[in-house]
Amino acid sequence: DAVDRAVAAALARRGVAVRSFLASLLVDPAEARTKGGTPFSVFTPFLRHLLARPAPRAPLPAPGPLRGVGGLASEPLESWGLTPTKPDWAAGFRALWTPGEAGAQARLAAFLDNGLAGYATLRDRPDRPATSRLSPHLRFGEISPFQVWSAASLAREAPPGARPSGADIDKFLAEVAWREFSYHLLVHHPDLATRSFQPRFDAFPWRDDPAGLRAWQRGETGYPIVDAGMRELWRTGWMHNRVRMVVASFLVKHLLIDWRLGERWFWDTLVDADPANNPASWQWVAGSGADAAPYFRIFNPVLQGEKFDPDGAYVKENIPALAGVPASLIHKPFTAPPLLLRQAGVTLGETYPHPLVDHAQARARALDALATIKATER
Ligand SMILES: Cc1cc2nc3c(=O)[nH]c(=O)nc-3n(C[C@H](O)[C@H](O)[C@H](O)COP(=O)(O)OP(=O)(O)OC[C@H]3O[C@@H](n4cnc5c(N)ncnc54)[C@H](O)[C@@H]3O)c2cc1C
Repeated sequence: DAVDRAVAAALARRGVAVRSFLASLLVDPAEARTKGGTPFSVFTPFLRHLLARPAPRAPLPAPGPLRGVGGLASEPLESWGLTPTKPDWAAGFRALWTPGEAGAQARLAAFLDNGLAGYATLRDRPDRPATSRLSPHLRFGEISPFQVWSAASLAREAPPGARPSGADIDKFLAEVAWREFSYHLLVHHPDLATRSFQPRFDAFPWRDDPAGLRAWQRGETGYPIVDAGMRELWRTGWMHNRVRMVVASFLVKHLLIDWRLGERWFWDTLVDADPANNPASWQWVAGSGADAAPYFRIFNPVLQGEKFDPDGAYVKENIPALAGVPASLIHKPFTAPPLLLRQAGVTLGETYPHPLVDHAQARARALDALATIKATER
């Protein structure tokens, strides 16, 4: 926003007329209002409002060449040496991401062919390639939400055999709408990444625990679904949405570490690190957000793993040290008989950590912490 304003001011000083067009959002946050005339702070009414508006416009064709700006000197991008070499920490990224417009379009086409059908039922499964992975492309404007919205909506008209269900399409569009909602919140609350939306969380007794934070960052909490997510993030720059929710909940509730430290780590490591989605989602999980999951809803990382990664394939992919553990114990290796662990080549405390906290105790501690902040109105 500040960059846009500075460019407009600089051009205006040179007598160049400037007009701007909203391309990165379907709805101008300045326009979307509740019936009472206030900005939305709850997602469902926001979605209803979005769906009741005229459908988002069709994507526009690429603009023609600009007149009067020929002859600008430019440097080849490679000459800036932006890609890491010493060390090459991005090696794991290349297999997954093709930055740029062509990569984004290819990703959308692949998702429409192979992912959208079944999205509503499989989108929570990190062991399946069931989501679009368009987030970095949307984040950096390599594809517009108009293109995504229009292509997914058009799938309603595909031939019957190739047509995703209405539920699949609706669910996918609703997720794209969450992105709109996050930006809506950010525009009306520019300090979304630094201030709890609910002021009562200002008094929350966060723990100062650098060792716990470090263990979480490195994927060494002893809870496989959490560690698999944090290692996937480090290796690929991305993490599945369900697992983002589980690891965020673990940091904020099991470790009682301030959500802002998690938000910052994600900001530093995600390829889709987004100024709206990241803080809005962290606040949602932390329970401090506008339209948040209540703080007392505390994920059990073992049950989450068993439900959403039932064969342990996601854990095994990201934590090879656990590859020999049977599916029935892969999400709770700390309960496995010692002999079985030995046969699986696992030595707790050496090849894989002991749990950092006990789930039941951590849950009770989190609820006690919550009780210290009064449920006052915003
Ligand atoms: C703690 C936490 C932090 C997050 N940080 C980010 C972030 O920095 N950047 C980011 O783009 N998303 C973030 N998300 C939201 C979500 O996890 C990702 O958008 C999603 O996993 C991207 O994968 P996808 O493109 O395959 O999603 P799909 O399921 O294919 O969804 C399509 C698009 O909809 C949008 N979307 C999907 N889910 C959400 C959501 N819950 N909130 C907002 N928009 C959504 C994204 O633009 C996504 O590309 C975060 C979620 C959590 C719980």
